Amino acid sequence: MRIVLVGPPGAGKGTQAAFLAQNLSIPHISTGDLFRANISRQTELGKLAKSYIDAGNLVPDEVTIAMAKDRMEQPDAENGFLLDGFPRNVSQAEALDELLETESMQLDAVLDLEVPEDEVVKRIAGRRVCRNESAHVFHVTYKPPAKEGVCDVCGGELYQRGDDSEETVRKRLEVYHTQTEPIIDYYKAQGLVVTISALGKVEDVTTRAMEALK
Ligand code: ADP
Ligand code: ADP
Ligand code: ADP
Repeated sequence: MRIVLVGPPGAGKGTQAAFLAQNLSIPHISTGDLFRANISRQTELGKLAKSYIDAGNLVPDEVTIAMAKDRMEQPDAENGFLLDGFPRNVSQAEALDELLETESMQLDAVLDLEVPEDEVVKRIAGRRVCRNESAHVFHVTYKPPAKEGVCDVCGGELYQRGDDSEETVRKRLEVYHTQTEPIIDYYKAQGLVVTISALGKVEDVTTRAMEALK
């Protein structure tokens, strides 16, 4: 299956993607995680992306699309993938369509996670991620680690993402509404969108998502 996950920052995309990718046996491809891995390795791409991410803006399309394309062309993504955080604007969606078309592939679904803004703000405020692996995600009240500040999965140090500050979150939400939300209409025109509520327990959202993808 080839799936795109859409939703505001803090909706639970990364959290759900981890379970869905496992259930569906497809790789979880998160452009945010790829950027953060590049930032921590101090690559040229990481250096370029950092200033945009810290300001809550989108990283320019050219580098983002190249990075996503490169990841989708890895052998493990041959039979499907779950895209988390890409595409994030209409030109990225068009670039993805072109890429799929050259490979004679199609998307199966675009899963839209719906969450009220006040809940998104609470989720982001309490989010803590692992320094070793930004896909290891916790929440100070909703998903506290067994030992404060320590990742349950790998023992890494938990920290609050710089772009999860209140000011940057406001900017990211604005960017979501103006640049990312239009891709929902773009994909509705292709009949691909399934919308679910992302409220409630993590496992209940996963069940809802699996049902919607059937
Ligand atoms: P996104 O990838 O959409 O930005 P995350 O998956 O990182 O979102 O989730 C944001 C925060 O909310 C994390 O701290 C995560 O632990 C928490 N979270 C995710 N899903 C739920 C849920 N269903 N209920 C409560 N908190 C959640
Ligand atoms: P969240 O999980 O809160 O939605 P992500 O980890 O997906 O955040 O993304 C963090 C930041 O990385 C974004 O605010 C943006 O600066 C950058 N980014 C991630 N994916 C893309 C993309 N497809 N296009 C441009 N920038 C991106
Ligand atoms: P318990 O009653 O088991 O101690 P909680 O009532 O604190 O647990 O939360 C149960 C689950 O519901 C959490 O794991 C979290 O995923 C989700 N949850 C908690 N608070 C909220 C909230 N305000 N909005 C959405 N989901 C929440």
